[in-house]
Amino acid sequence: MTRSGRDYLESLRDEREIWLDGERVGDITRHPAFRNTAASIARLYDLAHDSEHTPVLTEDGTHRAFAVPRSYEDLVARREAYRVWAKAGYGFLGRTPDCMAGGAAGFAAVPHVFTTDAFDGAENALAHHRRLAEGDLFAAFTLTNPPTARPGSAHPGDDDPVVRVVAEKDGGIVVRGAKMIGTAAVFANEVVVGTIEPLAPGDTDRAVCFSVPVDTPGLRLVARTSYEAAARSVFDNPLSSRFDENDALLVCDDVFVPWENVLAHRDPDVTFRMWWDTPAYLNLSHQAAARFWTKLEFLTGIAILLAKANGTYDLPPVTQAIGRLLGKVAQAKAFVLAAEASCTPVDGGRGGVAPGQDISFAHRIMAGEVYPQAVQEIRLLAGGGLIQLPSGRDLLHPELGPLVGTYLRAPGSPAEDRIKLLKLAWDALGSEFAGRHEQYERLYHGAPHVYLTQQATQGVDACESLARACLDGYGLETGPRQ
Ligand SMILES: Cc1cc2nc3c(=O)[nH]c(=O)nc-3n(C[C@H](O)[C@H](O)[C@H](O)COP(=O)(O)OP(=O)(O)OC[C@H]3O[C@@H](n4cnc5c(N)ncnc54)[C@H](O)[C@@H]3O)c2cc1C
Repeated sequence: MTRSGRDYLESLRDEREIWLDGERVGDITRHPAFRNTAASIARLYDLAHDSEHTPVLTEDGTHRAFAVPRSYEDLVARREAYRVWAKAGYGFLGRTPDCMAGGAAGFAAVPHVFTTDAFDGAENALAHHRRLAEGDLFAAFTLTNPPTARPGSAHPGDDDPVVRVVAEKDGGIVVRGAKMIGTAAVFANEVVVGTIEPLAPGDTDRAVCFSVPVDTPGLRLVARTSYEAAARSVFDNPLSSRFDENDALLVCDDVFVPWENVLAHRDPDVTFRMWWDTPAYLNLSHQAAARFWTKLEFLTGIAILLAKANGTYDLPPVTQAIGRLLGKVAQAKAFVLAAEASCTPVDGGRGGVAPGQDISFAHRIMAGEVYPQAVQEIRLLAGGGLIQLPSGRDLLHPELGPLVGTYLRAPGSPAEDRIKLLKLAWDALGSEFAGRHEQYERLYHGAPHVYLTQQATQGVDACESLARACLDGYGLETGPRQ
């Protein structure tokens, strides 16, 4: 059954080891760096109990993202569910619980990928999916190696920084090392630790994937600087004060992982194929693309409100800029609809369907290019007012408030409304939180040299054969132009 927000918050009050600014954090639901964002995620869980959203977000009492889609219609229904949560965070919560829910459903769709002669993780993959779905659990994932370790580089010895198997015991394995970047890991119940890039065939110690509760002894999360903690108030920092999902370094200090939580063990082939030969990655991408579409809608909405507040909305260059932004919204929407429409059967249909691969992959290129363009466009529309922003406390001051109100109002827009809008725009487009979001949209799906190389395998024959057909259609003897 889906949890309530209260159940979710209660589940975070465990022994998890979170570090921030040199201190161990106690209860994250009460800590000023995390509590508002935890409450925002709790509200997502509550939406599933809201009569308007229950039919969209759930099926048979379980969140739709956990379902293995069997048809195009199932994908559309899942997208509608993704959109409800994306709208609740205005697209600024990237790794909501529905993200890895789709990943786990992807593993469960093709469990035989986890079966090899040396280790059989198929039952564990199915149990992992069941555990998350039945408990309505929030799983984050850390798949990226620390910067000192490039994929495939053998780094044997005690100083290997990458998560690897250091011992096997009767009941499970012991792992040591680090992974980055655990977006929302501090807010999760479990974290999936693995690798998504190819490893060298002999890199077996690092070739492990497992899912453990965040409060597992020896597991530490070192949170990055908190934008929520730096926020002055919701009025001053409306997004970073409430939607800072944080990104953490995950450190395993001899963490014991029971066999039932191990999905892949000492097998570089499985650690790679579990993401690419199952619909796991495509499901993550479906959630990401639906969220991205929503985020561009929100940013474009800000642009429209800014242009209206500035009195520039009807100027032709501004109208054209809004047109360009709405074109980008349509582009983001088109990627979602096209990935669904081009869905293909998984494992001959036994694993349901997955969003179309070439379009899902291409979404990474489009989003990485379009997002910074949209941000630039809107910052230009906003002008210098984006910077000239007194604080909410200034506005509340008995003497200063009326003064600021006189000088910062615009025709048809009282100062408080105008400042409120500009502060929202700055938090979305120019703050440190906004900078993190630009980096996120460019890189969360991997580095360009990786995904562009992968894209270079998609649709090669169709393109080449069409150009070849043209070349084959004429020759020297074809004669002069008719
Ligand atoms: C905000 C944010 C949140 C993230 N959240 C998560 C998460 O929750 N879980 C997770 O697992 N990962 C997450 N990631 C990680 C993300 O997947 C990685 O950042 C991404 O895969 C790039 O890896 P890297 O940072 O190690 O880049 P590197 O491999 O260090 O590359 C950095 C840059 O160097 C250049 N470069 C490196 N090698 C080459 C080459 N061979 N050829 C050409 N250029 C090269 C490229 O310009 C590349 O962009 C997140 C990233 C960001 C920015």
